[in-house]
Amino acid sequence: MSVPSDAATPAVEGWFTTGEEPRLLASRCTTCSNVVFPPVSVDAGAASFFCRNPACDGQEQDTVELSRRGRVWSYTDAQYQPPAPYVPASDPFEPFALAAVELPEGIVVLGQVAQGYGVADLRVGAEAELVVETLNVDETGERSIYRWRPVA
Ligand SMILES: [Zn+2]
Repeated sequence: MSVPSDAATPAVEGWFTTGEEPRLLASRCTTCSNVVFPPVSVDAGAASFFCRNPACDGQEQDTVELSRRGRVWSYTDAQYQPPAPYVPASDPFEPFALAAVELPEGIVVLGQVAQGYGVADLRVGAEAELVVETLNVDETGERSIYRWRPVA
């Protein structure tokens, strides 16, 4: 049900790894080690990498894997369908919870909450773990997405 098949492709390419222990991918400045998520794509034709740390003028980055666990920083309930380009996970729309999780690397990452969990399962400061689940399946295939699962 929630575990993606091997044929699933990430809904957003390059933002997370899949498998038993999925991880988010981030850009880390080689000068000051500041991390940003989502990772900066330097071959997208846009500006090249620049460090988000205002005290740093670094222009080189590494792609690194972030910690799988963090602490809930805030959360909310999505009771209405977001506008396009939102990819519906279900039709008709089913409300879902969103959590902002602070990772040991010092950044807060927003994501949907894992299937079967809602705001009643969330508490600021509680531990949450990254999982990858099926987002949706349509005629073009199956797509997976990262989500936050409360740690009991
Ligand atoms: Zn830097």
